[in-house]
Parts: sequence; C-alpha cells; structure tokens
Amino acid sequence: MAFDPDFATYRLTDEHQMLRAAVRELADDKIAPRAAEIDQSSEFPYDVLEALTKADFHATHIPVAYGGLGADSVATAIVIEEVARACASSSLIPAVNKLGTMPVILSGSEELKKEVLTPVAAGEAMFSYALSEREAGSDAAAMRTRAVAEGDSWVLNGTKAWITNAGVSSYYTVMAVTDPSAGAKGISAFVVHKDDPGFSVGSKERKLGIKGSPTCEIHFDNCAIPASRIVGEPGTGFKTALATLDHTRLTIGAQALGIAQGAIDASIAYMKQRQQFGRPIADFQGLQFMLADMVMQTEAARQLIYAAAAKAERGEPGLTWYSASAKAFASDVAMKVTTDAVQLFGGAGYTQDFPVERMMRDAKITQIYEGTNQINRMVIARQILK
Ligand SMILES: Cc1cc2nc3c(=O)[nH]c(=O)nc-3n(C[C@H](O)[C@H](O)[C@H](O)COP(=O)(O)OP(=O)(O)OC[C@H]3O[C@@H](n4cnc5c(N)ncnc54)[C@H](O)[C@@H]3O)c2cc1C
Repeated sequence: MAFDPDFATYRLTDEHQMLRAAVRELADDKIAPRAAEIDQSSEFPYDVLEALTKADFHATHIPVAYGGLGADSVATAIVIEEVARACASSSLIPAVNKLGTMPVILSGSEELKKEVLTPVAAGEAMFSYALSEREAGSDAAAMRTRAVAEGDSWVLNGTKAWITNAGVSSYYTVMAVTDPSAGAKGISAFVVHKDDPGFSVGSKERKLGIKGSPTCEIHFDNCAIPASRIVGEPGTGFKTALATLDHTRLTIGAQALGIAQGAIDASIAYMKQRQQFGRPIADFQGLQFMLADMVMQTEAARQLIYAAAAKAERGEPGLTWYSASAKAFASDVAMKVTTDAVQLFGGAGYTQDFPVERMMRDAKITQIYEGTNQINRMVIARQILK
C-alpha cells in the first residue's frame, strides 16, 4: 500500500479554492452592497445577472460541448454558496439555471441539448423548473397539467405553481401528464419557451424572503410546442424530475450554507465591535459558545455538501439519500444559525439596519423547496430501509 506523501486526499483542489476566491471577490464587490436593496424592492437584480454572466458564474455547470464552463458539481456548489453568502436571491441565478437544465442534461436528446443549453451557457437565456402545482406539492405525482400529442406538436394545458425565476427565464422544464392511466409513469418532461403560443406567467407571490427572485404561476392554454422538445421518452418525466433533484438538492444545501456563512461573518464583526459592560460582547463566554456552535454546524454542513457534490460528479450510488441529507441538514443549520445571529445582534439584529434579519427570512425557504425537510427525511429513510 502506498500513501501520497503530500496528502492530497479529502481537500478541495487549488482550482476550487481559486474559484471560491474569484466568486467571493465579485460577490463582495458587486452583490453584497446591493443585497438589502434587492430585498426591499423585491426586484430581480438584472445588474447582478450581468455581473455573474460577465464572469461566467451564471451557469458554470453547463458542459463545454454546449459552450459552458464544464465546472464539476463541487465547483458549482461553491459558486452558489459564495453568491448566497452575499445575497440569497442572487444565488438563485446559478442554482435555478442548474435546476432547470438538469433534466435536459440527464435525459434530453443531443439536438435538444444543443438547442437549449447553448443560449444558457452564453448568458442569453435563463432556465426554470416546473414540477409543483397548487394541489400537487409534496405529492408532485398528483399533478394535473396535461400534454397531448397532436401531429408534430405536444399541446400543454394546465397551471404550474411556485416557479422560481418565472418571467425572467426564457426556458421552462415542465412536467406534465401524458398518460393519465399510468400514474407517475404517465408523466413526461418538456421544454417550453416563453414565446411559445399559449404560455403565460401569472402574478408574483408576496414572500417572506428571497424577494429578488420572482416566484409565479405559469399557465398553459393550448400551448403548442414542437415534438422535439420532449425530454427523453414519454413516461420518463417523473423519473427525470427526481433524478434532477438528486443533483440539485445539494445545491440548495449550498445556498443554505452560504446564507449561514454570511450570518456568521456578520456576527463575528459585530461581536468584536459592539461594547457592553465596558467590553466587546465577543468577550462573553455565553456568546462565544453560541458562535462556536454556529461555526461547527455550518462547517459540518459544508463537508456534507461537498461530499454529496463529489458523489454526484462521480456518479456514485447512494446519491439520493446523500443529497437529501445535505439539503435537509444544511437548511436546518442555516435556519438555526441565522436565528442565533439575530440573537447575537440584540435589538439591532431585529432591524433592517443589519443583514441578519434578511438572512433569517431567506434561510427559511431552504427548508421548504426542493422537497420540504419532512419529505427529504422520508426520502432518506426510504433509501436506507430499502
Ligand atoms: C419560494 C418558493 C419557490 C419554489 N420554487 C419552485 C420551483 O422553481 N419549481 C417547482 O416545481 N416548485 C417550486 N416550489 C414548490 C415547493 O417545492 C413546494 O412548495 C414544496 O414541495 C411543498 O409543497 P406544498 O407547498 O404544496 O406543501 P404541502 O405538500 O401542502 O405540505 C404542507 C406540509 O405538510 C408536510 N407534508 C406533506 N406530505 C407529508 C408527508 N407525507 N409526511 C410528512 N409531512 C408531509 C410538508 O412537509 C409541509 O410541512 C417553490 C416553493 C416556494 C415557496
């Protein structure tokens, strides 16, 4: 047995570290100063999209063959983490570009990949993912949106709910029922373009957090799309939708991780500067122990996420429960850490003069989307009891 004397095992590569430094520099410079304003205005940050696109951080996961950077899953998680550290809304640009395109990357035809991935890599289009409906959230297979083959087209009718970046994205991966008698095996996936006839976007949800990322219903009213825009074979759409989540739940973990790290960094700065009883509050052991827990739990989440991302990249078995664990653990940590950060700030933490209340509101969604944490725990238990 020979061991590597440099001990390169179990650490990020120099390229990953350099990528982190580059994204952090851009986020500190262009995104963090805008985060409070984005939250308050509830406007999608086109300036951030432009900055991310210029630096090629908007969709790093797209393979080189389609004009992308071809970044691995760990690298893409790092990009999302670092953007989320500054602004959770903005981190949904790279995160949802990955979520929307992953069904095509996993199951789409070569022709479809060329058609729809290339504009995303070039920064000319964004991509959303449409699985949920009002009456089919956790029970997504109970969806009602229908797609019927008509000549050279598929015709879609129905409504998808809660679609992140709706109205901003040009493309939407839409799961719809093609065979109502076949249950989950009667669901197919399609790519719909915003200019397809019969497609429209509903009004924006008024949300607790991630306010700079629009969440809307999307409607299909006899929406006809070319037959070539089906993703994979008819009946494989639900399988593709779940396989996608195996790759992207860990990226929601990365988003949660970034939010938690942002709250820790803000807390450290505040604890050193704020004085009570004639000394910095950082001197109080009661707060030091809180901070130690925040750091220790966040670092545990980080290691789980990178390990899940490495598993995804290598195509190793067990990704389903690993990625669900990374998402559920990191989002629970982010909620706890941001709540504790508000506590560490005292009254100031409860105001919009400091970023931690925004981080606490933003953290909450990471426990809800891409499967609530109850559903993720069900996924984990099912896999390990199999
Ligand atoms: C801001 C935002 C953005 C979103 N973005 C997208 C998107 O881009 N694309 C998309 O397709 N969807 C998106 N969603 C939808 C999201 O994935 C769903 O909201 C989520 O899956 C939960 O579904 P639901 O809201 O219908 O809750 P419900 O399914 O009604 O759940 C209600 C409660 O019941 C619990 N529950 C349900 N079933 C079980 C069970 N079997 N055992 C134990 N507990 C259970 C849930 O955990 C939850 O606490 C988004 C949602 C939000 C709020």
